[in-house]
Amino acid sequence: MGSKTEVVKGHRPACDRCGSCCTGDVCWIGLTLMGTNRTPCPALEEHDGLTSCGLVADTGRYALVDLALTPDQITTLKTHILRINNFGEGCDMEPWIAEEQEAKQ
Ligand code: SF4
Ligand code: SF4
Repeated sequence: MGSKTEVVKGHRPACDRCGSCCTGDVCWIGLTLMGTNRTPCPALEEHDGLTSCGLVADTGRYALVDLALTPDQITTLKTHILRINNFGEGCDMEPWIAEEQEAKQ
């Protein structure tokens, strides 16, 4: 998975929640918060054929469970995860990242 912070907004196709990215790799924030790079990402959830990130959908269940985060801490963490991974900005798979980097040069 490429860095979601390096992309140009609006260049990629919309994310259709196929889950391929998180099946093949664990993003750095997942690695940091769950301490594993086992694939598919253990936080990848699937409902009715659509995938979602469990770190966002159910943060306290996956992230640093040993720390027993408070509800306020979980809300703050979720906000940061959404921002850092640019959820809602489109697909972040490598072909689109490469295209965007080429367009920027
Ligand atoms: S933590 Fe979320 S965004 Fe990151 S790889 Fe896992 S399911 Fe995907
Ligand atoms: S970012 Fe791309 S690969 Fe990942 S779920 Fe969305 S469409 Fe699928």
